[in-house]
Amino acid sequence: MVFPIKEKIKNLNVVIGCPIGCRYCYARNNCRRFHITDDFSKPQFFENKLRLFETKEPKVFLLTGMSDFAYWQEEWIQKVFEKAALTPHNQYLFLTKRPERLHIQTQLDNLWFGVTVTCAAEKERIEILRRNVKAKHYHVTFEPLSDGVGEVDFTGIDWAGIGTETGNCRGKISTKKEWADSLCMQANARGVPVFMKEALEGIVLTDEMIQKFPKEFAL
Ligand code: SF4
Repeated sequence: MVFPIKEKIKNLNVVIGCPIGCRYCYARNNCRRFHITDDFSKPQFFENKLRLFETKEPKVFLLTGMSDFAYWQEEWIQKVFEKAALTPHNQYLFLTKRPERLHIQTQLDNLWFGVTVTCAAEKERIEILRRNVKAKHYHVTFEPLSDGVGEVDFTGIDWAGIGTETGNCRGKISTKKEWADSLCMQANARGVPVFMKEALEGIVLTDEMIQKFPKEFAL
């Protein structure tokens, strides 16, 4: 059975706001609709949410559901990493579209750094991430795909997500089955677990949907 990723990976938006301005940004729409902050283009840190890291059961949290990690201030990063170090039973995921802005070094085993890739021209983000972020775990989110990505170097990548554009955006572009299939085959060949987001169901046949997590997530 296909399940939504949010059943397993919880958004914990310790930072809200992002200046990148993607056309398809649902976070910006939600921020405006629910008046969460005054200006989504200016990231804000909600330090009080760090207490939510203190879970009894192990959890996997996406910390950048309403921000881009590359626009977090240094002081915020330090506070989040400190709290993550105190809660090693949880896994914490970060995503960026601007890895060239990052210079991070960490030995923490529960931090997962990723880039978003939507087309072949953005593949270089994977290499830049590996170069600029020295960490234990990397992941890539191929979403929303607007083109075939072609050959991908999955070296050192521990998890890959594949998705398509959702919502009612103008100019919405759907991922093509062959683009998703190609990424799956390449990831499988490297032993990288793949998670196809639920919105791909219909583009990909239900019984061909792959929804795997890294073993560290224990999901
Ligand atoms: S990078 Fe993410 S948070 Fe920022 S505008 Fe794009 S979709 Fe929204």
